[in-house]
Amino acid sequence: MINIRNHGEIEIIRTNALMVTATLTEVAKFLKPGITTASINKMADEFIHDNGGKPSFKGYHGFPYALCISVNEVVVHGFPSEYILKDGDIVSVDCGFYRDGYHGDHAYTFAIGDVKQETLKLLRVTKESLFLGIAQAAANNRVGDISYAIENYANRIHGYGVVRELVGHGVGRELHEEPQVPNFGFRGSGKRLQAGTVIAIEPMVNLGTKDVYTLEDGWTVVTADGKPSAHFEHTVVVRKGKGEALSSFTPIEAAEQVNGELNSSYYAQPALV
Ligand code: MG
Ligand code: MG
Repeated sequence: MINIRNHGEIEIIRTNALMVTATLTEVAKFLKPGITTASINKMADEFIHDNGGKPSFKGYHGFPYALCISVNEVVVHGFPSEYILKDGDIVSVDCGFYRDGYHGDHAYTFAIGDVKQETLKLLRVTKESLFLGIAQAAANNRVGDISYAIENYANRIHGYGVVRELVGHGVGRELHEEPQVPNFGFRGSGKRLQAGTVIAIEPMVNLGTKDVYTLEDGWTVVTADGKPSAHFEHTVVVRKGKGEALSSFTPIEAAEQVNGELNSSYYAQPALV
């Protein structure tokens, strides 16, 4: 069953999604070469609790941490660890915030210190593919319209590998609800979208092959060729005409550093949505 949320429910989800934004903004300020990924998790876990929420991921099917922290070739579901971030790394941080009976879920990939231009381009294109997907989250469109928009831009236009094993999803009372929202597919295929359905759209895009595998810990998903992978996610409500992101990159982008400078890309790029 695909849920349709009323105005009050959507506003609770928006508040929680924006609490994820606030958490990721704290992460943006905290990140630098020389810190461990475990220290990021600890900071975020405390921030979420201090704001009256619970981290959605902690305990979800046994996942042990507040954040998924995925460095370089790790696609998603990485464990925070004693790994020390170094100049040139990219780090994907995925976070859920639960309060008042609903979840928000969103993710951002950060550059640490000086990152290669080809990798920065992967981050930019992945983020842009998310916005193209959001534009298709329109009432009476089908799930495949979102999927196609993402795959077409990231793969057909830019030649990147789009991960198939993991998908976006409905989000609300449960962290993962129907429908599944793949990042690949055909226009006009899949379930029809109705206004008020809330979904997480989350392209996972690889610099090289689309193929991935899971490490022996049962969680950590890595690229088959060891090349970097990017992940951007928004919680989105289906609306007439186009989707509306309930979470926001704006404060994260205002706080993040890209190659030693405050990121001004938000101001330089035309809005895709
Ligand atoms: Mg997520
Ligand atoms: Mg998600």
